[in-house]
Amino acid sequence: MAEQRVDVLLLSVGADLPYFCGYEAMPLERLTMLVVPRDDDAHLIVPRLEAPRVVERPGVFQTVPWDETEDPIDLVRSLIGPASTAAIGDHTWAGFLVDLTRVLPSVEFRRASEVTSPLRSVKDAAEVESLRAAAAAADRVAVELRSGDIELAGRTEAEVSAELGRRLLAEGHQRVNFAIVAAGENAASPHHEPGERLIKPGEIVLCDFGGTKMDADGVGYCSDITRCVHLGEPPADLVEAYDVLFEAQAAQVVAAVVGQPCQEVDRVGRAIIAEAGFGDNFIHRTGHGIGTEAHEDPYIVEGNSLELRPGHAFSIEPGIYLPGRWGLRLEDIVVAASDGPDNLTTTDHRLAVIDA
Ligand code: ZN
Ligand code: ZN
Repeated sequence: MAEQRVDVLLLSVGADLPYFCGYEAMPLERLTMLVVPRDDDAHLIVPRLEAPRVVERPGVFQTVPWDETEDPIDLVRSLIGPASTAAIGDHTWAGFLVDLTRVLPSVEFRRASEVTSPLRSVKDAAEVESLRAAAAAADRVAVELRSGDIELAGRTEAEVSAELGRRLLAEGHQRVNFAIVAAGENAASPHHEPGERLIKPGEIVLCDFGGTKMDADGVGYCSDITRCVHLGEPPADLVEAYDVLFEAQAAQVVAAVVGQPCQEVDRVGRAIIAEAGFGDNFIHRTGHGIGTEAHEDPYIVEGNSLELRPGHAFSIEPGIYLPGRWGLRLEDIVVAASDGPDNLTTTDHRLAVIDA
């Protein structure tokens, strides 16, 4: 906070609060806020009816319950002290920020992520192991998918999505965050919502799924993996595009070394895909950081010159999308480490071809 010239940190709903104090706020119209002055004790303002859920952590913060007739904004103001700059959680409801700016007109508000991201994005050894355990659980589902264990032809995308979710839970996740199943032309939409469309023989099926798995301390870490399956022999042009994608993704994993700027990892894959003529068909960034949130810093994208440090964990997920026809994506979770990129997702990266 001193480095960033922030006088007080204000955390409400979102992943920052549990990361720093072990308590996750309910997304309610009643305000929960951790007030952390730079040079003073931290207080957790919490609605009285939520207070029983707070696990006290003496030495970390003091709990300040507020009653239904009290004004929590006023409580925050009284605890902030003479601050001129406040960093407020990026996911805090806008309504609360509006109220705070009204009672604190001279305070400059900034995003808390300026303070919290550099801390959260670099994982320590225990966090890497938690991510590895989550990745291994998702990996096992991906192996089942590739082997033909999960019935695809004749079922709807939504049915397969539900089964991927059930399997993520059976493999040890406590929560399913998403299970994209996109068949045929639907795969050209990267975040396709699985629906009632029947999956047919002769089609590509793109599956991108992940969940949250609790570690021994009850802190959840996320998984995220994408693999593609083709029902029956794939057409030559699709195989050709997949080979390009495979090569690009592998090159990006290799390039994800400590000291490498994030944007350089993006460029390495984008160049290969563009060289093959698919430059306009790779319509998103290469990847996102991952931790207690499925998407967090650092983002692997052009314009992000942040250099990878040991402990940075992120996805490498280039894609090639042909609208109206098909789409392909290949995704791993990688951790930058001093002895080279640590790829947490090891499921076979080739296009799986299943008899149908
Ligand atoms: Zn994904
Ligand atoms: Zn992802």
